[in-house]
Amino acid sequence: MDGYVLLGNEAVALGALHAGVSLAYGYPGTPSTEIIEYMQQVIEPKSGVRAQWCSNEKTAYEAAVGASAMNRRVLVTMKHVGLNVAADPFMNSAIMNIKGGVVLAVADDPGMHSSQNEQDSRFYADFAKLPCFEPHNQQEAYEMTRAAFDLSERFHVPVLLRLVTRLSHSRAIVRPNPSRDANPMVKFTGKDDFITLPATSRKRYAEHLELYKRLRAYAESETVNPLKPGDTDAPFSVITSGLGHNYFEENAEDLGFSPSVLHVNFYPLPEEKIRTLAAGSKRILCIEEGYPFIERLLRGILPVSVTVSGKLDGSLPPSGELNPDIVRTALKLPEPSSKVEDGHRNLAPLPGRPPQLCKGCPHRDTFKALNTALETYENHLVTGDIGCYTLGYLPPFEAIETGLCMGASITMARGAAQAGMYPVVAVIGDSTFMHSGLTGLADAVSSSVPITILILDNSTTAMTGGQDTIFESKGIRKVVLGLGVEPEHCVEMVPLPTKHEENSDLLRREIEYKGVSVVFAFRECIQTAKRKHTKEAKA
Ligand code: SF4
Repeated sequence: MDGYVLLGNEAVALGALHAGVSLAYGYPGTPSTEIIEYMQQVIEPKSGVRAQWCSNEKTAYEAAVGASAMNRRVLVTMKHVGLNVAADPFMNSAIMNIKGGVVLAVADDPGMHSSQNEQDSRFYADFAKLPCFEPHNQQEAYEMTRAAFDLSERFHVPVLLRLVTRLSHSRAIVRPNPSRDANPMVKFTGKDDFITLPATSRKRYAEHLELYKRLRAYAESETVNPLKPGDTDAPFSVITSGLGHNYFEENAEDLGFSPSVLHVNFYPLPEEKIRTLAAGSKRILCIEEGYPFIERLLRGILPVSVTVSGKLDGSLPPSGELNPDIVRTALKLPEPSSKVEDGHRNLAPLPGRPPQLCKGCPHRDTFKALNTALETYENHLVTGDIGCYTLGYLPPFEAIETGLCMGASITMARGAAQAGMYPVVAVIGDSTFMHSGLTGLADAVSSSVPITILILDNSTTAMTGGQDTIFESKGIRKVVLGLGVEPEHCVEMVPLPTKHEENSDLLRREIEYKGVSVVFAFRECIQTAKRKHTKEAKA
């Protein structure tokens, strides 16, 4: 076989395995989840390679730095908002003397298909002064993953690999190259390499700034950022990155001329190439998926006589995903005979289907019981978190009222309670609790706030497709007790329609308690249960 049909995420996973990766760590988050899942499917048990889910993105990233210190190659995966959680070690690791290659694959979600914002991870690479690869197809996702490991070890820095939903979740043929062996385990020897005391950090940061100059020089090489000269009388030149390149290519033939095109695959930006491109052009159109990252930087590189077009001047929409038609409009081409959306338009009109919890989902019974329990209070607050249960904000339950980020249900509840609100209930899932709820619970217990924390324990990370949680339910209960919740206020209910009265009474009792109480609503996600039964039936 000379090729595999792979998702962009699977191409990254295969690229990492063929690059001799020893470990992969991640936290599930759409659109990045399939990277670890694919590795878990294909890794040979005897190989010694491990791909594991972690409590959160920060712990995943820190484990990677630990493995790198032992000379191993490590892949870390997360979605864009997960990088906010891992930002602390990511920023600090920039000035460490990385040994085994560290590649951080982050999947951004322009258009917010399943995310709370659209943030663009290229800004984090720029912020940390670290290199970033941005593939525009599955083959590049495979090859750039390998190149990123080589670069990481060559320059001794972590390397970010930026993906977007449409690439992560679409398939194409990937032709692999010969595999490389894993690095042997060797403990680092440089005394200052993995420590960030101010004295060592100052020295390392000065070195890092010098290294950044070398990375900028590397970005000018033709292989990483190709510049294709066009017609000398073309009315504009084009800079593309990621999928923006594909959308441009789909329309390029209709232009009637060949603009000069710089395709940015690798950051820091190749400033010299950008100046070369601009020398023969009065206008540059910048086509990039995500924020106007390149476009903004261009304004500091180019003379004011060169007009820069893109998302900032309205040539392209400032938010959402790009597509070939949007790019076509920016290129000032006439409308195509069949538009991208036509496929949808030609379908028979479907009734609107607002997102909702699955029929039979345990959360439905929990929200019903909670709403009944809260009926007796004229005013109340229910803070929510990230997971399937965020849908409890919508009809028919309209139970939760807030949703900030992972773990914020508990911390927001604490703040609201200390601001004088009563009663306050925080709703959080088991996986999210282990991700970012623990520290909030410690805060709440330490200040004895009167809040009730409802842990919706369905034994899985349901929203991303049912990955294993790092602890089973019993383990989470021990953690809750260990953080100081009184045993008589760490209680369990089973969310079932037959137990509605019992559950709402239990919730009311805990809401009445003027301290921190934790209620586990324990019933398995029906989707996970179904998959398990199908697997067992096949076995
Ligand atoms: S996937 Fe599981 S937890 Fe999520 S809505 Fe469906 S049944 Fe509920």
